Amino acid sequence: MRAFTYERVATPAEAASAVAGKPGAKFLAGGTNLLDLMKLEIERPTHLVDVQDIEGLSTIEATEEGGLRIGALVSNTALAADERVRRDYGVLTRAIVAGASGQLRNKATTAGNLLQRTRCPYFYDPNLPCNKRNPGSGCAALEGYSRQLAVVGTSDKCIATYPGDMAIALRVLDATVETVQPDGQTRTIPFGEFHRLPGDEPEKDNVLVHGELITAVTLPRPLGGQHFYHKVRDRASYAFALVSVAAVVQPDGTGRVAFGGVAHKPWRVEAAEAAMPQGAAAVTARVFADARPTEHNAFKVPLATRTLAGVLADAKG
Ligand SMILES: Cc1cc2nc3c(=O)[nH]c(=O)nc-3n(C[C@H](O)[C@H](O)[C@H](O)COP(=O)(O)OP(=O)(O)OC[C@H]3O[C@@H](n4cnc5c(N)ncnc54)[C@H](O)[C@@H]3O)c2cc1C
Ligand code: SF4
Repeated sequence: MRAFTYERVATPAEAASAVAGKPGAKFLAGGTNLLDLMKLEIERPTHLVDVQDIEGLSTIEATEEGGLRIGALVSNTALAADERVRRDYGVLTRAIVAGASGQLRNKATTAGNLLQRTRCPYFYDPNLPCNKRNPGSGCAALEGYSRQLAVVGTSDKCIATYPGDMAIALRVLDATVETVQPDGQTRTIPFGEFHRLPGDEPEKDNVLVHGELITAVTLPRPLGGQHFYHKVRDRASYAFALVSVAAVVQPDGTGRVAFGGVAHKPWRVEAAEAAMPQGAAAVTARVFADARPTEHNAFKVPLATRTLAGVLADAKG
């Protein structure tokens, strides 16, 4: 691990200006992703701004619109266990408990979870080219072993997947991300616009600017219906998704669905959801219409169909 300086801040504005003032600075929340990457020298911040003492970011509050506002520092454990979340947003609880381990979820925060970096194996090997880790160096995965990697929304520069579970549920719920920028302005980002596709700049995972602090994630009014999160992975626990499905299914068979493990961001094609009453194949034919899988990961497209079929069968009881 390289040497770095460290400070703890007390307010969102202080945090944003402390990071914005130093090009090599980063926020530190639970540290469960950032510190791992620092130990491997994949992330090399020169200064850490610890946000864990900021007051008011660790609560979950009802909004006037009938939804919930989740502070950026709420732990994954507290969020999954919240009575209102379990009752009205079951897809979110199910997605969170499908990820990591109890100990990690105790430490991991809402904002940190959204911003965890890809688990592409080549990103973790500093001896190999990787446009995300070292822009312009190339992509070892394109000619390498790509079983875990993306099938849709890829570019010639990067085929990494977004690894998280919680974000797939937040995408299906139409959450929004609230931030404070270094100039003190706040903004609200619709969840579908928060994570980026790799395009020509795969080093940028999301639309935040340097020094922009996430303060909360807001859920709209509950959708009703049955909530599902099915995660298919190589081990029964403690593994990232090969494919995951977050879905809310209404009694008449209509609903919403987003997929994890298939793209650089949570993957949802709203136009495909009209086909839910016709069954899984009708939906995924549209969701993956532009898929460009590799020989190693072509299995993900039929796996996504079968996983969604399982969800729809469960919804019928
Ligand atoms: C062994 C292991 C297995 C795991 N398995 C899973 C899994 O199956 N599913 C899953 O979803 N996750 C999994 N994870 C990832 C884990 O969920 C994340 O590491 C965790 O959620 C990150 O949260 P954190 O608060 O620790 O973030 P940190 O590590 O503190 O920060 C992560 C990033 O977010 C930035 N950041 C933090 N807070 C803010 C903020 N408020 N505003 C702006 N930027 C901010 C930091 O600068 C950093 O870049 C696993 C992790 C490990 C180590
Ligand atoms: S797929 Fe993306 S993260 Fe993986 S090696 Fe290529 S550029 Fe790096």
